[in-house]
Amino acid sequence: MSRTMAQHDLRIVALRRLSEAHLAALQAVAQVDYFDELHDGNRAEYDAALARAHGLIGGKLELDDAALERAPQLKVVSTISVGYDNLPLAAMNRRGILLCNTPDVLTETTADTAFALIMATQRRLVELSCMVREGRWQNHVGPQHFGHDVHGKVLGIVGAGRIGAAIARRAAQGFNMPVLYAASTPKPSLEQQLGAERCSLDELLERADIVCLSVPYREDTHHLIDAAALARMQPSAALINVARGKVVDEQALIDALQRGVIRAAGLDVFEQEPLNPDSPLCRMDNVVVLPHIGSATHETRAAMAVRAVANLINALTGRGEVDAVNGGVLADDPR
Ligand code: NAP
Repeated sequence: MSRTMAQHDLRIVALRRLSEAHLAALQAVAQVDYFDELHDGNRAEYDAALARAHGLIGGKLELDDAALERAPQLKVVSTISVGYDNLPLAAMNRRGILLCNTPDVLTETTADTAFALIMATQRRLVELSCMVREGRWQNHVGPQHFGHDVHGKVLGIVGAGRIGAAIARRAAQGFNMPVLYAASTPKPSLEQQLGAERCSLDELLERADIVCLSVPYREDTHHLIDAAALARMQPSAALINVARGKVVDEQALIDALQRGVIRAAGLDVFEQEPLNPDSPLCRMDNVVVLPHIGSATHETRAAMAVRAVANLINALTGRGEVDAVNGGVLADDPR
């Protein structure tokens, strides 16, 4: 379904995740073409709207170099996410298109999701809950159903940025966990406030009981966790991924889980999403799979949309602050 709301000279294409109130705020400054989903039936209409648009806003934006070429007026892209690996940043930089994202507002919720995965994989929550629901709980649980502690275990954070730091706080302050982190730059606040220890990725993989990924997906983080990295982990260790699927070589992970190279995995993200239900990951008791819900709470998704709408309006009208990913493009732009 698409709706066209006429106003002003500016034109905006809005895609997914926007309420009537958000659309009304956008409509106050521009004509808005809203698409709550993209499919074969409205793809041509979307392309035509994009060709006229000055601004694009939405979640899971679909934009590649070719689409950018068909959008000669585009000045601002406002993604309702903190990650922007789905967007052609280099081409946007060349074209002087400003990219805005929604950092901070999703940090705590995504850290909650990571911790939910940590708890679920260590204590085998999904597997044992299924046992109850399916009528297989017939005797007292024995060692074959025991899990592993969370408190006191060594947590290794790969990507100690906003989300990584929030996971580290939960671990150190809530669960008395020693925290290791691998990062290109030292994080003195993590070290001073949480006693976190910086080490190389290899050392982190070797020492951590739980390895948690919260790095952005880029060329240099593609398959950062591959067969060799998994082989460095302890056989009792768990891998948690709330970053992006392609940070992990998924086939290597499946092999490692099947061969007992590592014990368990908790995954919110996958190389292909939605995950194919035929994936071995869906059939392994030692794997918890989630449908990419890192930031998916009512409160956080609403806050992200508010932030993205403000970013787009402020960027198009020059009225206020924006969360700019590539603020440099504004330097020689008279907008
Ligand atoms: P952020 O504050 O930019 O943190 C990312 C951190 O990763 C930075 O501190 C950076 O370290 C570090 N890093 C980059 N490359 C690295 C590498 N090769 N090895 C180790 N560390 C590396 O971003 P954020 O807000 O925490 O978000 C992180 C990512 O989480 C996003 O890009 C997004 O893809 C993902 N995410 C997923 C969900 C979900 O639904 N599952 C939700 C939100 C975000 P330096 O500071 O040293 O450069």
